Amino acid sequence: MPQQERIRVAIVGAGIAGLTLAVALNAFDSEQKIAVDLYESAPELSEIGAGINVWPRTWEILREIGLGDALIPLFDHYPDLKPRVIWEIRKADQKNGFKVIDIMQNGGALRIHRADFQRSLINYLPLAGSGVPVNTTCTLHLSHKLVDYSLSISSTASYPNSGPVTLHFADKPSKTCDILVGADGIKSTVRRLFLSRLPSPERYVKFLDPIRTGTVVYRGLVDKEELRKASPGHRALDHPGLTYVGKGKHAVVYPVSGGKYVNVVAAVHDKSKQGTTWEGQLHQEVSQSEFYDRFVGWEEEFQTLIHCIRRPTRWVLQALNHLDIFAKERVFLLGDSAHAMAPHLGAGASVGIEDAYILASLLAHPSIPHPLSMQHLSRITDIYNNTRVPQAMSRSKASSDQGHLFALSAPGFERFAEGDDVPRDMLVDLFHQVEENWSWATSKADIDRRQATDLLLESRARL
Ligand SMILES: Cc1cc2nc3c(=O)[nH]c(=O)nc-3n(C[C@H](O)[C@H](O)[C@H](O)COP(=O)(O)OP(=O)(O)OC[C@H]3O[C@@H](n4cnc5c(N)ncnc54)[C@H](O)[C@@H]3O)c2cc1C
Repeated sequence: MPQQERIRVAIVGAGIAGLTLAVALNAFDSEQKIAVDLYESAPELSEIGAGINVWPRTWEILREIGLGDALIPLFDHYPDLKPRVIWEIRKADQKNGFKVIDIMQNGGALRIHRADFQRSLINYLPLAGSGVPVNTTCTLHLSHKLVDYSLSISSTASYPNSGPVTLHFADKPSKTCDILVGADGIKSTVRRLFLSRLPSPERYVKFLDPIRTGTVVYRGLVDKEELRKASPGHRALDHPGLTYVGKGKHAVVYPVSGGKYVNVVAAVHDKSKQGTTWEGQLHQEVSQSEFYDRFVGWEEEFQTLIHCIRRPTRWVLQALNHLDIFAKERVFLLGDSAHAMAPHLGAGASVGIEDAYILASLLAHPSIPHPLSMQHLSRITDIYNNTRVPQAMSRSKASSDQGHLFALSAPGFERFAEGDDVPRDMLVDLFHQVEENWSWATSKADIDRRQATDLLLESRARL
């Protein structure tokens, strides 16, 4: 289809969610009716952070949109549905730490380095000359920081914003599009503008800025060879995933980069900071001793891991209050810009990938005409809100609950302090709850996709 007749989708933000949307649109756009412009404020595509957990539900989506062969060699194990340990839980805030239980799941967790993951997504962007088969055309615009957008007002009373969207960038000419997707992360500019233009914008003030979850995390990678030298036979050398827990703190430890490194994310929880705001730097390099001092008295094998992290970083974790609308008229929010959440379920990126999967399925659906009619767009926004808002909200709530459980802050645990002995049966019951909270990870995303597209077909009958 000629470029000028295509539905023009502007994606603002080339993080995991925005990149997945571009790749998913290309996978589903069999009629070749969509053109994507991907705008990213950074001068190059890069990713900070280390490991990421990909769950069986998310893996099915990534495979369906064509990333299977690229990702399989980058995971720590072959994706199948064999029962696997996702975490060995250890009570570790004492010298004589001990195993509580193994948390098991069919398919386990696929662990991957973020940079490897993001690179695979970039390699599958349907850019001209990239060698990727192109259904949806895609143009990447780096150094494009969106600062504002405007909706054109038309005289059609039922659809007042039916003209194209104009995008305004810092120091760059304005551009237009038919659909704007804000995938610009937790501090999203698109979210701020979108919410301020809804009817009764005062209702949405508490969703404009992120709030603290109450947790800071120390992160770092351990080179396995160094760990082997420092502590031959260390448990983390050959383990699929460990969680060291103690009162008010916990740490997850798992292999990335095909087992070359061990990723360590150690959380210190402080309920009094929950819901407060933070103006300082969100992440920064800190000394080894700062990290070490927070875990004095913990079992030795965990302290050995900290000693092997040369350049730890400290992250102040933030999340969003649970927003109840992700789309209206021509504007959609996707990924962290809609629902940034605590990381304790390892689900934030996965929910963004699901948003992209559902939105791409709706926009590329054969029943969607080009040029787009506002009636069809209105059905898509309704379906996107009705399907994505509840999923994101439930995953976000479960993520923060999981943090409380890991920190031994559940009801009944008030009497224990860091380093205290806790009856084993209490710990076992608690971590069975933790295991239960991961049951979504093996559910099927294609059922949600079918539900969304069935709703689209039903609504077509009514148009
Ligand atoms: C410690 C920790 C561990 C985690 N572990 C996991 C895990 O195991 N599994 C999991 O699924 N999730 C995990 N997450 C969550 C996950 O990292 C995020 O949910 C995910 O990376 C968000 O992706 P995104 O694309 O929505 O946003 P981002 O990655 O923030 O991307 C937004 C992009 O938009 C760009 N941008 C911003 N503003 C503008 C603008 N105005 N104009 C143009 N471009 C702009 C930014 O430069 C950036 O490239 C974890 C998070 C943390 C903090």
